[in-house]
Amino acid sequence: MTLDEKLRKPLSEIGVTSAEQCQSLFEELNQRLQEDSAAARSSAKVEGFRIDWLGRKNGRLSLLSDNWLKAASSQLKPVVGKLLNGLRIEAEKRLNELMAETKGKIEVRVEGNLDQWKGEVQTELRSVPDITLPGLSHQFGAKHPLTLVREEIEEIFISMGYTVEEGPEIETAYYNFEALNTPENHPARSEQDTFFIRDGGAGRDELLLRTHTSPVQIHTMERMKPPVRAIVPGKVYRRDNPDATHTPMFHQIEGFAVDVDISFCEFKGTLEYFLKAFFGPEKRVRFRPSYFPFTEPSAEVDISCGICGGTGRVGQGIPCRVCKQSGWVEVMGAGMIHPAVFQYVGYDPEEYSGFAFGLGLDRYTMLKYNMPSLDYFFNNDIRFLEQFK
Ligand SMILES: [Zn+2]
Repeated sequence: MTLDEKLRKPLSEIGVTSAEQCQSLFEELNQRLQEDSAAARSSAKVEGFRIDWLGRKNGRLSLLSDNWLKAASSQLKPVVGKLLNGLRIEAEKRLNELMAETKGKIEVRVEGNLDQWKGEVQTELRSVPDITLPGLSHQFGAKHPLTLVREEIEEIFISMGYTVEEGPEIETAYYNFEALNTPENHPARSEQDTFFIRDGGAGRDELLLRTHTSPVQIHTMERMKPPVRAIVPGKVYRRDNPDATHTPMFHQIEGFAVDVDISFCEFKGTLEYFLKAFFGPEKRVRFRPSYFPFTEPSAEVDISCGICGGTGRVGQGIPCRVCKQSGWVEVMGAGMIHPAVFQYVGYDPEEYSGFAFGLGLDRYTMLKYNMPSLDYFFNNDIRFLEQFK
């Protein structure tokens, strides 16, 4: 029978009937106590020692008291009581020593040679936070390239006094078309294949996924009186089949400024400043006449091609594919806001003037990082995304 098994039975059952037998049994226990305390070299093991010996419920001293002392014969009781008391004092003394020792051990060792005891500390002192150990490493994510470019564009405009506005992605036909001077029978509506919402109403209240960020111009002008200078980044939707340069969802940044006396000069100057700030001061900028229902006059804005330097040729006269040999890359649609649009929002077109522009964030990001296809943005390929950390 092991010592621990003996502790669970009354003395009479394990054949102990004399004071001498008690004495030798306690000597055996004391021997075990010394061995255990000598083996407790870490704070975890010291805690184990405490539980084994002084634990309230199943500690050896509790078992001893319950099974041996309480059931002892009246003749043996004082002997067991005295021996038990001596053993308890010894156990408590050992525990105090061990606790002081392990505590001291940490303090002393922290000043010692790190490499020598790092492994030991790691395994032995789990309950003590050790600030010298290497930390847990976390995988940090990175901003998506579209987010990086959006933030860069926002910063340029914020530095010119623009605010950043937002609006709903589900719009009514009124805000998406009509208030932008594109009434129901206007030919421009058919240019944009649109996602309509099933059972989404009819007429000017019909619900659809916005095809451009321009409706936010209307929302913003309804809410604010001039001067207004704002840009509107956001997702837009068109029924395009996905290929290298088209996706059914893409990102635009709309911008507009309305104030008294805003001239074509301010319009051109602002956009040139922005394009040179974003694409580089060496870029040339040109405005080509164009048409949009909500601006008059309207322009397509081009910058000189960064691949061929505007010559249309790379290397030994090889045609530049990026600009299709024209030397120019289209980057923006823009124009002076049509007076009719002002009337929809209650601005007096005699008093106020302004300009508006829209650009494709996906395209800007492709140009900035020389990317061949839109696919990279939406494939969630970690090898691609990690390059932007
Ligand atoms: Zn080119």
